[in-house]
Amino acid sequence: MNDIFSDEQEAFAKGGSGDESIRPRSLDDFIGHEDLRANLKVYIQAARERGQALDHTLFHGNPGLGKTTLAQIMASELGVNFVSTSGPVLERSGDLAAILTNLARNDVLFVDEIHRMPIAVEEVLYPAMEDFKLDLVIGQGPAARTVKIDLEPFTLVGATTRIGLLSSPLRDRFGVSLRLEFYSPEELARIVARTARILNLKITPEGALEIGRRSRGTPRIANRLLRRVRDFCLVQGREILDTAEADHALARMDVDDAGLDQMDRKLLSVIIEHYGGGPVGLKTLAVACSEEVRTIEEIYEPYLIQCGFLKRTHRGRMATAKAYRHLNMLA
Ligand code: ADP
Repeated sequence: MNDIFSDEQEAFAKGGSGDESIRPRSLDDFIGHEDLRANLKVYIQAARERGQALDHTLFHGNPGLGKTTLAQIMASELGVNFVSTSGPVLERSGDLAAILTNLARNDVLFVDEIHRMPIAVEEVLYPAMEDFKLDLVIGQGPAARTVKIDLEPFTLVGATTRIGLLSSPLRDRFGVSLRLEFYSPEELARIVARTARILNLKITPEGALEIGRRSRGTPRIANRLLRRVRDFCLVQGREILDTAEADHALARMDVDDAGLDQMDRKLLSVIIEHYGGGPVGLKTLAVACSEEVRTIEEIYEPYLIQCGFLKRTHRGRMATAKAYRHLNMLA
């Protein structure tokens, strides 16, 4: 398992990046996504001025792009509590009811991986989101009765990597829906430079750009790579992290010039070598690569598609001419 992979797995497990000190605390600290930030600023200010809870907000985008960070920033800029849970953790409707009844006025309730919430729990959420009311069924069979409980107004912030898996009644109940895209190398370089400042690390702008360029468009990976490059610098007694240092360390970590890691390359080479370049079905590909379908779909594929190495067709996945060139393989 390599560094990038374990980092992404953390995102699934929601262990976070392991260091809260580098997480931006305010919208001004949050790098990139200018339009999204500007809009959020307006919504937050308006909610503050009205003294009301902000509309329920949905963030969607790949792991590590800043969904949790933005939710935390919203709570802090609104001056309310940040309460966090995740879809798979909410197994029974009572789990959600316990959280909802403990919220204070206008709090932010963050539900990560909201697409993985069981349907029975989701149904409890509808009246809570709409009218700040909870319909609880107490008891079973003929003795069962419904109790209505008033809740404090709150803002639900949902995060999902798979907006297509969200039911439409749930999706429709979000007043604000924002998509986080991959970051540009320059934006990632700014994130790397900021993290380096916090870690007291000297880095040249070119060194930061080299790491940014090879971070799969993802801040979490940029920060992770920076830490590993820092280890190489330390052990080799280098004081300043420049392009050569970054390149050397990234090559040692098997992150190639396009930012692809071992698994990315394995995926592409399996398609090319075993399946004549595709199309090959996702399940077959997962078995051939000894990887889970969900990991391929949610972590590896989006970046490979975005960079033009992989094509998704209705008959399966195909390697592109660019993939052949990158891996020095003949079509
Ligand atoms: P997600 O919830 O989308 O998986 P996170 O919000 O946990 O992603 O972000 C992962 C890490 O990347 C955070 O710890 C944060 O330090 C960093 N990060 C994300 N977005 C930005 C950004 N726009 N500017 C600076 N750092 C960021």
